[in-house]
Amino acid sequence: MTADAHPARPPRSPSRRSLLQAGSLVLLLGTQQIARGASILAVRVWPAPEYSRVTIESDTKLVAKQFFVTTPPRLAVDIEGIDLSPELRELVAKVKPDDPNIAGIRVGQNAPGVVRLVVDLKQAAQPQVFTLPPIAAYQHRLVFDLYPAEPVDPLEALIAERLRDTTPAAPTAGATTAQPAKPHEPADPLGDLIAQHAHRPGPSATPAPAEPTPAAPPVAANRPGGRATATQTDRIIIVALDPGHGGEDPGAIGPAGTREKDVVLRVAHLLRDRINATTVGGNPMRAFLTRDGDYFVPLGTRVEKARRVQADLFVSIHADAFTTPAARGASVFALSQSGASSTAARWLANKENQADLVGGLNVQSKDRHVQRALLDMSTTAQINDSLALGTVLLGEIGNIGRLHKPRVEQAGFAVLKAPDIPSVLVETAFISNPEEEARLRSSAYQQQLADALMRGITRYFAKNPPLARSRSV
Ligand SMILES: [Zn+2]
Repeated sequence: MTADAHPARPPRSPSRRSLLQAGSLVLLLGTQQIARGASILAVRVWPAPEYSRVTIESDTKLVAKQFFVTTPPRLAVDIEGIDLSPELRELVAKVKPDDPNIAGIRVGQNAPGVVRLVVDLKQAAQPQVFTLPPIAAYQHRLVFDLYPAEPVDPLEALIAERLRDTTPAAPTAGATTAQPAKPHEPADPLGDLIAQHAHRPGPSATPAPAEPTPAAPPVAANRPGGRATATQTDRIIIVALDPGHGGEDPGAIGPAGTREKDVVLRVAHLLRDRINATTVGGNPMRAFLTRDGDYFVPLGTRVEKARRVQADLFVSIHADAFTTPAARGASVFALSQSGASSTAARWLANKENQADLVGGLNVQSKDRHVQRALLDMSTTAQINDSLALGTVLLGEIGNIGRLHKPRVEQAGFAVLKAPDIPSVLVETAFISNPEEEARLRSSAYQQQLADALMRGITRYFAKNPPLARSRSV
């Protein structure tokens, strides 16, 4: 083809043929060079109960063949075109003993130019192996996601966490089971939670009955204070907290190296402590984190998890960044059904929606379909509630720091698309501004932020009683 691209060359067939031959020779050399020359740039392991991820980053796309063996459970992957390198050997030491899924990793040169990597698993698993094209700061990535065969149910995780908190003296060995240790303990909110979720319909089902069904009374009857009638509002109020980014996706990075994913998780933990210690109208509140560690959670999965636990609110926590260090102040966003409320809002939504590309979503997994299905289900009611929530949050944040915009803005953030949960995204400050980065790092400001968000959430519920709203949508 390169020969045809030079029609000006006078000689005919003989040298034309030699040119073509030379061309194919170059192509052949090219292939060999790629096969020989792929170098490993970094290896990373991201452990989490939901799934553990292994990432191998290289300067060219790696070709891998995978084999899964069930007994004992292990994933073997032959990676072609590379030789055993110190970076690959590092993987072995990067697996932590408390990794929920990976027991260990072995690497070896299986054949010339083929490295075999064996991931020994702690339990039956459903591994996904896929590649990601270069994006953001990353070159080519080969990813192994090791999901337990029994998926972690967000609701069960929430109940287990509640159990751990309410029964501190109980042995921790059985902490992951959903069995109440003291089922008839007075005012056991876990009992409420279980009873509630046993009767509450799924997000798309019909409204629940006005009175508790016959299975519920044992819990309600044992409440202190002798409330004879268990009303609709007699339940745990669940606030989904969504710390942005995580794992392969660091989010924005400040001039001093502060990573958005770390500070937002810290703020989420502080806010969780406050929520779990708060009641609204006599009803206990409980925080649910869509991400409780340093790992990647796809945007659609975050929404799906919040719906699974039937959250009453969804608060996504982020830190803003801009190309100039001068930009500063907090802002709060709600979903928009039509266009964005400003060019800046649209730009930001696009940037935040890129998280799946940077974090590394397997395009063949079901997460994409879930997200797409939710796309057109947003409702005017949800957006109005979200604007009300955003307004009180913005007011409270304005009391402790500077605001970037005085009103709640709107744009098509993928993570705000739960059709039945008021959802806002809070950009706590500009991490790209050196002053604000320093504030975001400071424990004092993190506490102030968590306090402000807590006050806003409480104020919102005071004006918008949770149950009436959640039953009606
Ligand atoms: Zn963000």
